[in-house]
Amino acid sequence: MKFATICSGSSGNCTYIEGGHTSILVDAGCSNRHLSASLAEYGKSPQDISALLISHEHSDHISGITRFARRFGIPVYASARTWENLPCRDDFFPEDRHIFEYGMSIGDIDIDFFRLSHDAVQPVGFVFACSDTRVAIATDTGVVTPSMARAVRNADGLVLEANHDVSMLMSGKYSYALKQRVRGEQGHLSNQQAGLALRELAGENTRSVILAHLSEQNNLPQLALSQVRALVGDSKIHITVAPRCNAHPLIEL
Ligand SMILES: [Zn+2]
Ligand SMILES: [Zn+2]
Repeated sequence: MKFATICSGSSGNCTYIEGGHTSILVDAGCSNRHLSASLAEYGKSPQDISALLISHEHSDHISGITRFARRFGIPVYASARTWENLPCRDDFFPEDRHIFEYGMSIGDIDIDFFRLSHDAVQPVGFVFACSDTRVAIATDTGVVTPSMARAVRNADGLVLEANHDVSMLMSGKYSYALKQRVRGEQGHLSNQQAGLALRELAGENTRSVILAHLSEQNNLPQLALSQVRALVGDSKIHITVAPRCNAHPLIEL
C-alpha cells in the first residue's frame, strides 16, 4: 500500500491511499488545482481516484468535495448522518449520496471504520487494508476511543493527529471557550496524547506514521515530532509531519 497527506490542518485536509490498482481520497478540503498537482506528484491523475470518503462535515474536510466530484465524476461516500448534515448535500442527487457500509470494499481496498470523539454528528476514522497491509487515519478526535484503539493497533501505516502543544494552546491567543473546545473530549489530540497513543498502539508491523492536523497557532512541526518521539522511545518507526499546504511524499509500505 501507499499513502500520504495532500494537505493537513484547519485550513484543509485530504489524504491519499493506494492499494493494488485502486486509489482513494479521504476528505477534500482543498482546491481541484492543489489536488491535481499533488496527485501528479504521485504519478496519478484525478481520473485514477475510485472514491472520495468523508470523515465528518467540518469545512476543513469538505470544502472541495462538490467541485472535485463534479469535475471528475468521483463517487462520494459518507455516513448517513454526515450526509444529512453536509452543507453541500443538495449539490448531490440522492442516488449519488453513497453511504458507508460495514465490510465494504472499493476495488482492491477493504475499508473499515471506527468511531471518533469530536464535535461533529458522526465522525469516523478509517482502516484501509490490501493484501496483508493496513493503513489507518485517525484525526479530529479529543480522545483515543476504544474503537479507535482496536482498529489502529499494529497498523502498518498511520496518519495520526498531533494537533497542539497544550502549553502553547493555553498561553496562546484563542478565546477561553475555543481553548476548552480544542483540548476537550470532543476536540483534538495534543502532541502528548498522540505520543501516548502511538506508544500504546504501535506494534511490530507499524513502520510509518505521519503526524497530522497540526495547529498553525498552537504547534510547531519540530515540537510535535520531538514530543511524540520522546514518548514512543527508541523505536524503528519512521515518524514524519504532514505539511500544512503541500503534499507529503508518498510512503510505500
Ligand atoms: Zn473537525
Ligand atoms: Zn479537521
